[in-house]
Amino acid sequence: MRKYIPTLLFLFISQYLFAQTKTIIGFNEKNSEAQLSLESLFDKNLSTKSIEENMKILSSKPHHISSPGSKANAEYVMNQFKKFGWDAQIETFHILFPTPKTRLLEMTSPTTYKALLKEPALKEDPTSDQEGQLPTYNAFSADGDVTAELVFVNYGLPDDYEVLDKMGIDVKGKIVIAKYGHSWRGTKPKVAQEHGAVGCIIYSDPADDGYFRGDVYPKGAFKNEFGVQRGSVMDMVIYPGDPLTPGIGATEDTKRLDRLKAPNLIKIPVLPVSYHDATPLLQALGGPVVPDSWHGGLPFTYHVGPGKTKVHLKLEFNWDIVPCYDVIAKIQGSKYPDEWVIRGNHQDAWVNGAADPVSGLATLLEEARSIGAMLQTGWKPARTLVYCAWDGEEPALLGSTEWVEAHQKELQQKAVLYINSDGNERGFLHASGSHALEPLMDGIAKTVIDPQTNVSVFERRKAREAITASGAATKKKILDENELKLGAMGSGSDYSSFIQHAGIPALNLGFGGEGSGGEYHSIYDSYYDFITFKDPGFRYEVALAQVAGRAALRMANADVLPFDFTHLYKTINGYADELIDLLKNSRELTQVENQIINSGGYKIGEDPTKNFVAPVAKEEVPYLDFSPLQNALADLKKSADSLKVVFQNKIKNNMVSKNFNQSLYQAEQQLLNEDGLPRRAWYKHTIYAPGFYTGYGVKTMPGIREAIEQREWKEAQEQIIVDAKAIMRLSDYLKKAQLK
Ligand SMILES: [Zn+2]
Repeated sequence: MRKYIPTLLFLFISQYLFAQTKTIIGFNEKNSEAQLSLESLFDKNLSTKSIEENMKILSSKPHHISSPGSKANAEYVMNQFKKFGWDAQIETFHILFPTPKTRLLEMTSPTTYKALLKEPALKEDPTSDQEGQLPTYNAFSADGDVTAELVFVNYGLPDDYEVLDKMGIDVKGKIVIAKYGHSWRGTKPKVAQEHGAVGCIIYSDPADDGYFRGDVYPKGAFKNEFGVQRGSVMDMVIYPGDPLTPGIGATEDTKRLDRLKAPNLIKIPVLPVSYHDATPLLQALGGPVVPDSWHGGLPFTYHVGPGKTKVHLKLEFNWDIVPCYDVIAKIQGSKYPDEWVIRGNHQDAWVNGAADPVSGLATLLEEARSIGAMLQTGWKPARTLVYCAWDGEEPALLGSTEWVEAHQKELQQKAVLYINSDGNERGFLHASGSHALEPLMDGIAKTVIDPQTNVSVFERRKAREAITASGAATKKKILDENELKLGAMGSGSDYSSFIQHAGIPALNLGFGGEGSGGEYHSIYDSYYDFITFKDPGFRYEVALAQVAGRAALRMANADVLPFDFTHLYKTINGYADELIDLLKNSRELTQVENQIINSGGYKIGEDPTKNFVAPVAKEEVPYLDFSPLQNALADLKKSADSLKVVFQNKIKNNMVSKNFNQSLYQAEQQLLNEDGLPRRAWYKHTIYAPGFYTGYGVKTMPGIREAIEQREWKEAQEQIIVDAKAIMRLSDYLKKAQLK
């Protein structure tokens, strides 16, 4: 009898949830009911079996861009869409994609060691021995042949070089070795190059994703001693996509830049290695012992170098232009065919890519299959659904960026929303995106049930956040928060060009946190690994299909599109407060640091037996005028508040207007600044961008924030004006939208 209790409880909870969400934001009462029954039909069609089958097929062979496997997968995906009743085709671009010709890393002094640069096949993992695997390398490394002393630079980020400065260590003319992690990998060679290094080696330390975290593959999920993370080191924070065609679609005969002049290509050779290959190099390093926080998980004392340890790094690449196959599938909307709800996931992998990207791609296909089955019943979406499988995401978000650049004008007219996903696994809902869509995602996260615990995915995530937060105040704040908050978008997947270049509202969705391992971008990201460690049973792929599918279907059918700009206002206002604090903290820290420096504190406070170079006093931090921003935000608050009243009245009184809807989905474009961010004009969104020195990590209000962080005071003041103007533009626009 006891085992029935959870089921009854579940029924009770789901009825309660159902009763609570009788109306969906954007729908009147009658249409809410119809939408909810449509969604239960959608759910009923979802099957773990067909997700499993598609994952098995799509991860059965290596399928990096330009490989036979990638072309076969693109054709398979297109044919699946057709089978489900969608219109589908492949759109081809032509893109620069380097593959390795020569890879050599050897230590020449004080002893010799030649790096293996090879991940061995494992008998437990049936796809690990296949032909056609890309060797371990960093795409868009430069060609190079260098021999130099080696320096260990921790994670290779700007702060690490400040520590090296204080130790009196310069990497000019040296080869650096950095740990993977704590940033987008491309930041490491970029910062090394800025400091004059001639080569860069990146290795996976066991403290980050190896035996320090858990048992290693194949016994456990974490990285074994030979595992290597492949990956791109193109400087995508300048611009992503084909490096030779910034801002335009890379069609066959378009004008291309000279490769050696492409501003986002690194100039030094870069190579990723396993900790098996890094160990002899690190062990041979002399020089001072590393600071405490720099130690990794290897069983010896880490030293910084430089000195007797010399390495030889030789890399050569085939710089080929290769075809890039995007699969684009459509169902025409019955009422608003010119309003497009777009959903995408990439199809290319570094090798077999069962987790990255097939877990997300198989999910997207399952949504398409379920929607196809609904078409059979005579149903049609009101707006057009566009489902996409992107090629070339791994090297540089190639397929999605070129598609957006090639169709930018049309997309800015028609795209209502872009919904992205990528790798998915057991765990907690992660959702980031345009903040005006928070109420939409809140409604969805409270109705999708977590497969392991039978509470909503919203409740589960909230419980997790409350457990892991530190401090009573933060925990209490989380418990008191009853609305889903969206994260802000940095980069690292295919949404970048939609939101950050074209101003199209976007969401990035996925589950994670309970399937962690060390398989990322290695030959061990396989079907065997996925069903053993990441999500045996595929239930979180079904959960993702429910979340992303609801987002697509609600946006496709809404009477009035559910954009709530009061949420956007609150979020931006919070960022503005952060910036004011950032400047104040920077001022106070500079004052007190300068006081220590000027009073000779470093001379007496540091260990005199160690080499130490005292820092020099920094320029004092001026006061900046935030009032233009504060006034613009006050205005935005008013227009967002009054637009919300109009929005609610329109739904209540059934006043559906195509023009009003169009104003809502195009509003985000007002936040674009035509000149783009300083030194990276491709990024036009004034609120969200990947950080110049973080890569994946977001910088919100990046123009102002990065200028303050880089101590560019004049630029910070200019960017306050730029952002204030963008916010005023949006505010004025929303005032006009109310009249439509
Ligand atoms: Zn991916």
